[in-house]
Amino acid sequence: MRIKTILLASLASGMMFSCETVEKAKSSEVEETGIALPDFIKKFDNTGEFAYPVDKFGDIEVIRYKIPSWENLTLKQKKYAYYLTMAGYSGREIIYDQNYRHNLAIKRALEKVYSDYKGDRENEDFQNMTTYLKRIWFANGIHHHYSNEKFKPNFSQDFLETAMKTVGTILNDEAKKAIFDPEFDVKKVNLSKDVDLVKASAVNFYSPELTEKEVETYYKSIIDKNNPTPVEYGLNSKLVKHDDGTIHENTYKVGGMYDKAITEIVGWLSKAVTAAENEKQAHALELLIEYYRTGDLKIWSEYNIAWVSATDGDIDYINSFIEVYNDPLGYSGSFETVVELKDFKMTDIMSVVSENVQWFEDNAPLMANHKKKEVKGVTYKVVDAAGEAGDASPSTPIGVNLPNANWIRTQHGSKSVSLGNIISAYDEAGGSGILTEFAHDKEEIELAKAHGKTAGKMHTALHEVVGHASGQLNPGVGTPKETLKNYASTLEEARADLVGLYYIMDKKLVDLGLIETLDVGKSEYDGYIRNGMMTQLSRLDLGAEIEEAHMRNRQLVASWAFEKGAEDNVISKVVRDGKTYFEVNDYEKLRDLFGKLLMEIQRIKSEGDYVAGRDLVENYGVKVDQAIHAEVLARVKPLNIQPYRGFVNPKICTIKNEDGEITDFKIEYQNFDEQMLEYANRFAYLPEYN
Ligand SMILES: [Zn+2]
Repeated sequence: MRIKTILLASLASGMMFSCETVEKAKSSEVEETGIALPDFIKKFDNTGEFAYPVDKFGDIEVIRYKIPSWENLTLKQKKYAYYLTMAGYSGREIIYDQNYRHNLAIKRALEKVYSDYKGDRENEDFQNMTTYLKRIWFANGIHHHYSNEKFKPNFSQDFLETAMKTVGTILNDEAKKAIFDPEFDVKKVNLSKDVDLVKASAVNFYSPELTEKEVETYYKSIIDKNNPTPVEYGLNSKLVKHDDGTIHENTYKVGGMYDKAITEIVGWLSKAVTAAENEKQAHALELLIEYYRTGDLKIWSEYNIAWVSATDGDIDYINSFIEVYNDPLGYSGSFETVVELKDFKMTDIMSVVSENVQWFEDNAPLMANHKKKEVKGVTYKVVDAAGEAGDASPSTPIGVNLPNANWIRTQHGSKSVSLGNIISAYDEAGGSGILTEFAHDKEEIELAKAHGKTAGKMHTALHEVVGHASGQLNPGVGTPKETLKNYASTLEEARADLVGLYYIMDKKLVDLGLIETLDVGKSEYDGYIRNGMMTQLSRLDLGAEIEEAHMRNRQLVASWAFEKGAEDNVISKVVRDGKTYFEVNDYEKLRDLFGKLLMEIQRIKSEGDYVAGRDLVENYGVKVDQAIHAEVLARVKPLNIQPYRGFVNPKICTIKNEDGEITDFKIEYQNFDEQMLEYANRFAYLPEYN
């Protein structure tokens, strides 16, 4: 399960392109062996200042992220993480082919033109082709990563034909049709009613002759519904129909479909085994390798059980065919990798909060009978992504909860992580545009700049570890899903948020050494009100109501506190030069209000009071003030924030001694076309058609 942002050749030859540095035994001189990129490619200047924003095109912004935890790792751990990222990059072409059968051919032809074209690069056709290619890189194919619609080429077929001729590359007629015929293979995944889902979807999980009915009949014939521990049927295969009418699975494995890329993946995973942090990790990796070699889905199940129980260590990863969102029928998995490092700082914060979770419960503003006598903090893992590939890149999840097989989750548990460095890169790349536009005054901006990041992390820790663990149901009351129904998740998120808001202004946090000053709490209050009353509306179309649970809960909490505090002027609504601002005047009183609302929502949950829960959500969380919404949209527009964002990976470079042994690593940053062309050369293992 993926948590998305609510915003919207051989091992040896692979090594040649690495940014490896050879450490001279007797001098500190270093030597770079980079990949040869065309002269016009601007490399990111790693000697200058780091910058998050990378590139903007279409409806996309590309940004960078850092790996703050990297420096906490030992050399052996760094090697482990490095091998795992390389295993991921080695499979990155698979997703192009899975998304659409012509993607690799089109991508390579356009990359060749982009790299070698000697004509006028300022020419409109060339510029538009560049944008088209960047959109392909971002979406891993010619269909939009989110809307699934095919991209419109704003360049002519004549231009492309001529350009391809001059650089010595060709495309077959159907691939050209795929680019230029707006009626052909229009949608990557089509989930409309009344269509043949398989025929109407351009994804490459089924050969074009197959119909939805044939696919369903095939799977019906092999799936044993009575098996309590079923394999994930079809997860690692493409279904094809042969000339004689029979239907077969082409399995993704060594010696099968995607052989060359998977062989590379296995090579890097084998290296990773030697650097694993512990036995359990090594054992899981060996099973993954075995699965890639055999394609046996029973081994995939065994691997998942081993992986989910390998909880020790600072490094984890996902690597394989996992999520089935891109298959209209939900069988075949898209290749993806995320390598995850423990967020050491956040883990420390969490453990302090966790050790004190009973204190938080005992001192919570709840009715005595709604408090837990013995509360256990919820474990919540924040990690740093160290490299992403396949379906997880450049557009990335912000959290991952796996494995997907229900019986494994029930019997063996699951791992849930939130990608902390990705989330903070999103925040930082936005720059201070939104803050400056919507903050009431300079003081508020300064407070946010000084403490906003800590405040966000602290609030998340309290929300997850204490908030979701707090409180108890009255005897005989059903689960919130049964009693509060469709309002359960909004109210649960509101309750957890309120626990966080209540305690982030508590001196206890200072005493525990978690924060230095209550200014952290103040900046969280400012930000929460600003977001709940105004800025989050920028994600919504004018006229729409709020649907998403977190957005509902934030507006509920903010607008309830605004209304209830009106008499005491706790929060004031200020209109200046036609612009609206919300200013918190009394943080202590606001804290009391948060405590009161927390008590009420806990009561609603403990008693299963559907009517009160429904009224709170409907009255405060759903409807949008149309005038404010229009104003927010108008104020956000000039800030030029793109609807979709994604990432280039940091480049993990090896430093080697004269014997070729890795002695250290260094992290470099890249530009978008720099990284995409480098990957295209370095990890080109597949034929154009698979
Ligand atoms: Zn939550």
